[in-house]
Amino acid sequence: METNILRINEESIMTAAELLKKNEIVAVPTETVYGLAGNGLSPSAVKKIFEAKGRPNDNPLILHISSTDWLYRYAREVPELALKLADRFWAGPLTMILPKKDTVPYETSGGLDTVAFRMPDNKWTLKLIDACGFPLAAPSANLSGLPSPTRAGYVYNDLKGKIPLIIDGGICKCGVESTVVAFKDNGVKILRPGGVTPEMLSEICDVEIDRAVIDGISDNEKAQSPGMKYKHYSPSADVYLIECRNRARLEEFINNNYDSKTYALVRETKNIKAKTLPYGKNAKTEANELFSSLRKADELGASKIYVEAPGKEGMGLAVYNRLIRAAAFKVIKL
Ligand code: AMP
Ligand code: MG
Repeated sequence: METNILRINEESIMTAAELLKKNEIVAVPTETVYGLAGNGLSPSAVKKIFEAKGRPNDNPLILHISSTDWLYRYAREVPELALKLADRFWAGPLTMILPKKDTVPYETSGGLDTVAFRMPDNKWTLKLIDACGFPLAAPSANLSGLPSPTRAGYVYNDLKGKIPLIIDGGICKCGVESTVVAFKDNGVKILRPGGVTPEMLSEICDVEIDRAVIDGISDNEKAQSPGMKYKHYSPSADVYLIECRNRARLEEFINNNYDSKTYALVRETKNIKAKTLPYGKNAKTEANELFSSLRKADELGASKIYVEAPGKEGMGLAVYNRLIRAAAFKVIKL
């Protein structure tokens, strides 16, 4: 199959809508990362998504909707708090898990009786959903296990020949995936941290953070968010997460343990002798650069990548959550 890349505009969105109506799958930009979209109500479209990505079929998909009203079409119950959160954070990087109606196939929900909803913050992608008239199931548009794609070119690297169309909307402004929450008592439980931080949610309700966000899940444990149990976001190179509050010690460690195939992602590159790749000065900019730098490291033939761990507050929690999985839980504490 030939894979076309079209710049985002009225015309390309209509081309995408025609393909989606025919049960084809198309990569589209969102503010978090690129998504691989298909009709979320169609088992055959959803099957194509899982096949193209090589995604385990018990890892559920998120339904992308263009208006809060759509929740009533596909969710059996919509708590007051869900409406409040939608009002405050949609369109934006917050995904809410609700009991599903029968109209949502089990292929989409990974066999669960719940389904995840989000309204993406991209005016063209919202237009596309409207033009389709059905919700788009859209996991990240990468091969399962690799870093999520924040540029159309990265989608092409992973999925060329497997999908007919990629809509190029430039660089994703958030850079990590959405925050996934489930409802619990008077508040929410964060199953995956993302662009909406625990602090932002705390302004509205009680917030609990699932232990697996930072600790991971053992093979025989049941994950509340199935996606969390897999090694994820990983380049081919070995990633090591370095937790260190002392600059001099961090520099000394890297400078004593690098070779020509070692790359470092650190906030301050001045005294670092190993090669470096773009990384932020704070958790927000780290989120923007992270996946792109992990992919670049592979392009450059890196064998080892050291990454300076962010603090676990604010956006730092989302960045830490991705890094610890990219590193397959290899942490160096200095
Ligand atoms: P992705 O589509 O790659 O952004 O991943 C979606 C994430 O949401 C995965 O971690 C899923 O496990 C999680 N998720 C989606 N639907 C549900 C659900 N019904 N219950 C729990 N987690 C979910
Ligand atoms: Mg993903």
